[in-house]
Amino acid sequence: MQLKCRFLPQNDGRCGWYEILPPPPVSTPLRGEVKADWVVLGAGLAGLAAARRLAELQPNAAIAIVDAKRVGFGAAGRNSGFMVDLPHDLNSHNYTGDQSADRKLIRLNRGAIAYMREIVQRHAIECDWRERGKLHGAVEARGLKALETFAKGLSVLGEPYRELSARDMQAITGTDFYRAGMHAPGAVTVQPAALVRGLGATLPANVRLYEESPVHKIDVGKPHTLVTNKGQLTSPRLVLANNAYAGQFSQLGFSGRLLPMYTYGSLTRPLSAQEQADLGGEESWGLIPADPMGTTVRRMRDGRICIRNVFTYNPCVSTSKSRLARVRSVHQRSFKRRFPMLPNVEMEYTWGGALCLTRNGGVPFGEIAPGVFSAVCQNGLGLTRGTIAGKLIAEYALGIESELLDIMLEQPKPAANPPEPFLGLGVRSTLAWKEWHAGKEL
Ligand SMILES: Cc1cc2nc3c(=O)[nH]c(=O)nc-3n(C[C@H](O)[C@H](O)[C@H](O)COP(=O)(O)OP(=O)(O)OC[C@H]3O[C@@H](n4cnc5c(N)ncnc54)[C@H](O)[C@@H]3O)c2cc1C
Repeated sequence: MQLKCRFLPQNDGRCGWYEILPPPPVSTPLRGEVKADWVVLGAGLAGLAAARRLAELQPNAAIAIVDAKRVGFGAAGRNSGFMVDLPHDLNSHNYTGDQSADRKLIRLNRGAIAYMREIVQRHAIECDWRERGKLHGAVEARGLKALETFAKGLSVLGEPYRELSARDMQAITGTDFYRAGMHAPGAVTVQPAALVRGLGATLPANVRLYEESPVHKIDVGKPHTLVTNKGQLTSPRLVLANNAYAGQFSQLGFSGRLLPMYTYGSLTRPLSAQEQADLGGEESWGLIPADPMGTTVRRMRDGRICIRNVFTYNPCVSTSKSRLARVRSVHQRSFKRRFPMLPNVEMEYTWGGALCLTRNGGVPFGEIAPGVFSAVCQNGLGLTRGTIAGKLIAEYALGIESELLDIMLEQPKPAANPPEPFLGLGVRSTLAWKEWHAGKEL
């Protein structure tokens, strides 16, 4: 079976998280013919976790991991940096769903946080790792309702949270924009590009990382062969961790089941001392909108503010300059609404990044063809779900049983999508409707 990669990772704007870091050391692209015991496609959250776990479990095996770009350049380094422990269903109006399913997802998410915490501490990865939870902020009646339902859902699950008044929210964020809020203590925040780059730099010695090596073609067989412009990698076992780009592999049953989406981030320049004083509030916090279609905001200790909003349907897994320009003005508007006391602060960086969702929140986890393992599709929660999917796919492939693996294997498989053009029309109109309803939450 031959898989063609027609849609390759693109540049998709300038990602602030990546650009404010010092330049990375020179990369090692794939050259010539390389043989390995395992090959992992995609050095994002799932791929790096899979390669690391395989290496931990099989210290004598040769493991290769390959990415089209530098580590940290893709979605893994483009996200808002929330390692979310609680349910976070982007398709629901308040993130929660079925209680027993929610409890299991919490266990998976916490398993991911525990694994990542251990790696970050052991290797002293500098990524602004903060275990201070997340805020939820509501502005409109719909947001307030969503917050209320989320709080009820957490009470039923026995999960701790603290309700916050408009005044409490202002004391933390500096703005009187939010009418109510909540603090949920279990989330961790990170500088995503710094975390992922740190993960790439501290892989075990039996992992070879090939960057800037777009894979154009995969011959699935015995062994599998991944072909790039200047080399090829052969291995009897392949782990797919290539996010929404997997949607083009129709022979593996992904087409018609994955939803390749984009969401977008912007980072301001650092606020001056005077601007920080005008804003007030705490020096660092992270806020998720009560309405999933609203705006995520983070204030960083270096004085920058990050804004994230807008979802688009991107079957070609890339975005355009004109879309990025439109998104930038949406971000600037969202910023001005929240921070009218900072009239001269512009977005310094704006970028987009790929998400892989499914209609039912299902995941194509497991062995999907002989010797081909999938850790694809994190349903928008890659920092936790990608990490645990990568770790568990390694354990699954090596026959190591655990309770978390059972939970992963119990997750529903992705539901089939309606055919195009109905799918595109349906997704785009639903997004437009939800965005309109989000009102000022955006
Ligand atoms: C703006 C934004 C904000 C977000 N905020 C959050 C958040 O706060 N918390 C959270 O948990 N998630 C968040 N996400 C989602 C999260 O980033 C993704 O779910 C996560 O990155 C997916 O992880 P992954 O390992 O599956 O894929 P990725 O991290 O995308 O890794 C896949 C890798 O595969 C590589 N690849 C693909 N095709 C090829 C090829 N042909 N050849 C070689 N390499 C290839 C890509 O270059 C990429 O590096 C956000 C995403 C965006 C864009």
